[in-house]
Amino acid sequence: MKVFGVTGWKNAGKTGLMERLVAEITKRGFSVSTVKHAHHAFDVDHEGRDSYRHRVAGAHEVMLASGVRIAQMSELRGSAEPPLSDLLARLKPVDLVLIEGYKREPHPKIEAFREVAGHDLMAPQDGTIAAVAADIALEVDLPVFDLDDTARITEFVLRQVGLIAEAQPTSNLKPPPLKNDCFALPPGVNWTPVDEALEALRTRLTTVVGRETVPLELACGRVLAADLVAKRSNPPLPNTAVDGYGFAGAVPEGEAVFPLIAGRSAAGVPYQGRVPDGHAIRVLTGAALPDGVDTVVLEEDCAISETQIAFNGPVKHKSNTRKAGEDVAEGDIALSKGRVLTPADLALAAAVGFGELPVFLPLRVGVLSTGDELVEPGQEAGVGQIFDANRPMLLSAIARFGYKAVDLGRVADSRVALTDQLKNAAAKVDVILTSGGASAGDEDHVSALLRESGALAEWRIALKPGRPLALGIWDGVPVFGLPGNPVAAFVCTLIFARPALSVLAGSDWRVPDYFDVPAAFSKRKKPGRREYLRARMRGGRVEVFKSEGSGRVSGLSWAEGLVELGDEGREISEGDLVRFYPYGSFGL
Ligand code: AMP
Ligand code: MG
Repeated sequence: MKVFGVTGWKNAGKTGLMERLVAEITKRGFSVSTVKHAHHAFDVDHEGRDSYRHRVAGAHEVMLASGVRIAQMSELRGSAEPPLSDLLARLKPVDLVLIEGYKREPHPKIEAFREVAGHDLMAPQDGTIAAVAADIALEVDLPVFDLDDTARITEFVLRQVGLIAEAQPTSNLKPPPLKNDCFALPPGVNWTPVDEALEALRTRLTTVVGRETVPLELACGRVLAADLVAKRSNPPLPNTAVDGYGFAGAVPEGEAVFPLIAGRSAAGVPYQGRVPDGHAIRVLTGAALPDGVDTVVLEEDCAISETQIAFNGPVKHKSNTRKAGEDVAEGDIALSKGRVLTPADLALAAAVGFGELPVFLPLRVGVLSTGDELVEPGQEAGVGQIFDANRPMLLSAIARFGYKAVDLGRVADSRVALTDQLKNAAAKVDVILTSGGASAGDEDHVSALLRESGALAEWRIALKPGRPLALGIWDGVPVFGLPGNPVAAFVCTLIFARPALSVLAGSDWRVPDYFDVPAAFSKRKKPGRREYLRARMRGGRVEVFKSEGSGRVSGLSWAEGLVELGDEGREISEGDLVRFYPYGSFGL
């Protein structure tokens, strides 16, 4: 338990300060207990009370209990007054124990000081006093607070005991929003090649989320917000990698016999003494190497008696031992900013001394469908209506990417409704994905609206399927206006939105991995644009879906990845190598 004291001469204001600290620290949500050292003449019990009668009759302890309070009284009957540590051991666990008096105990204290009380300051004579709370200005080599400045004194105490952290070196401020022109493409460009479009996104986007600090065990999947510099080496000390016997130096070829010394070195319980030259000691995996030991022989390789071990050499110098810091040295960068933390990363962070990690706030990605024809999946659909297939697909893809998916629902093809919904969304998400209405037609309100707000770039990307993509900024929030066709919306999400979201979330631009594999199909492809085909691997070859129609949702579901055909024209025959990206490469 954390302990902090208030000390001072009589009438210096100790109890008043205690009272204010208990109230303020409790108000901040910490649990507080107190210990007060009372004068010898002081007694909680009084003659005539039942408890008094129990005590005087000789009870060892008396528990006085009611519905509001319990007091436990123990009689010392002449034995020595117990030390503070014994009293603390009787308290239930709390965040902080504040102690009034006990000025000679070694815990840190603040001294209350009132000039009118007429005493000298005790602080300079006592190394355990960490600060002074006084009613006058004082010149001492310690922090001095105004006796009534409870807020600052509370901060000081909480920092001293480690209940609140020292001011974070990293700022938790949210970064500035993206600029309105960040998606602009050079004028006059008609069909932008995919790589150029990706490069534009890569270079213009920046992190849009703020930071926070979270306990290690909650950090998996989060994006690390600062380089993690090892606070401690791993391993911290040279230790043994096996159960066996430790001694100094190499052993030459042939039989070796070492006298065994008493004792052993185990993980967390090192051997304290020195092992004399020519002697061996029992060592257990993970144990620090005792003084005089730098080499270990495996237990299985030894014949063992009470007093000796024997084994066959040679054993190389430093066999079966680990050097201090051989894994990570103190001061090394253990994990880099932007890293999406994995379970293994948490092990590494723990090993080098971290109990909490600075991470970016989760990226909140809103998903909105547009179109008069859309109805909610599972509901009645009228003539000409279709079910909203994009929203469940996009929301779950966002969740798989590791972001916070926010369902913004559906809006009809109405400028007013869309404006309302976007305004509403911009306040609660960091980025918006819309689908549908992104072309230049009469009912394409997403692009029209972004164009009106002056922050639209209609990206005519040389990509199949995937046209059109409308990128814009709405109230400082980036909007990816995806095509309405589910296949096109899906491909654009994987190829463009995913790496972009990664940067917005504080991580790196993500390039998916691929395999070059033999085609199980043949196809003639025209030059001028990149194509993605729904594909899957079977028997070591990649097959593609029978139709390239962009509305064919069944093909998306059939596929397990995408085949990428480059911008150039190509005649593909069965067995030719083509580039295959499994969905897993996109984080799905
Ligand atoms: P749009 O881009 O709005 O012209 O839509 C292109 C095609 O995609 C149309 O056939 C739409 O009906 C269809 N579509 C748009 N949004 C969705 C959606 N959320 N779910 C399924 N199909 C959609
Ligand atoms: Mg539409």
